Amino acid sequence: MPLIIRIDVDRPYGKRPAVRHLMSRLSSDLYLPKVEAFGYLAELQTMLHWLNEAEARAYAFFRRCTLPSPAVMRLFDAGRHQAGLHLEDSRSYETFCSEIQIMERHFDRKMLAVSKHGSGGAKYGFHHHAPYEPEKYIAWARKASLRLFLGNLEDPTLPAVQSDDLVTYPSAFWLEPHWRDTQRYNVDWLIEQAQRQDIVLLVHPENVLGDPTLITDFKRLIRTVESKVLA
Ligand SMILES: [Zn+2]
Repeated sequence: MPLIIRIDVDRPYGKRPAVRHLMSRLSSDLYLPKVEAFGYLAELQTMLHWLNEAEARAYAFFRRCTLPSPAVMRLFDAGRHQAGLHLEDSRSYETFCSEIQIMERHFDRKMLAVSKHGSGGAKYGFHHHAPYEPEKYIAWARKASLRLFLGNLEDPTLPAVQSDDLVTYPSAFWLEPHWRDTQRYNVDWLIEQAQRQDIVLLVHPENVLGDPTLITDFKRLIRTVESKVLA
């Protein structure tokens, strides 16, 4: 059984150095043009190179401030990856639909997958609605004929739920240890477990690229375990 690789693309310019961190913050709240000189989506581009070399396919979930530039789009298409909405403004079905529309216009194709930005804690930026309310997103996703919702729970053993045409994976194996019970669930466990059930591997490019151990883990996983996109 394969991995479902989920990349949440949270920051247009990553976190480092400080000037890129600031650019990420500003882009999240205001409109800023994509500035290649500051390394727009540089961390995602590196990950896409690794994935393409390993012939692994992934979902990448984008916010309105992290929409792919032409350079990212080329890598994305070359690896036949799938784009989804990383939902920020979850105040209502209308705000959900307007974010879907932004994605569909940018990609010129129907969106089939959604994940939520933030798990119910802090408010991240001007457009962000902080509560984490998966039942709502599942209902909205069905109404809008999406096929996949990937949830933010941290117990990676929770099984997928199929309801009509929509598949929900309530949880993920978060590669970044901050959100994982690392005693129970390590990379060896994941490689083992992925032989028995589909399992979602969740990563954030700026965190993985900032930690040599996570880079090693990520590369090992994409080379060892088969990955798939559903929709
Ligand atoms: Zn996020």
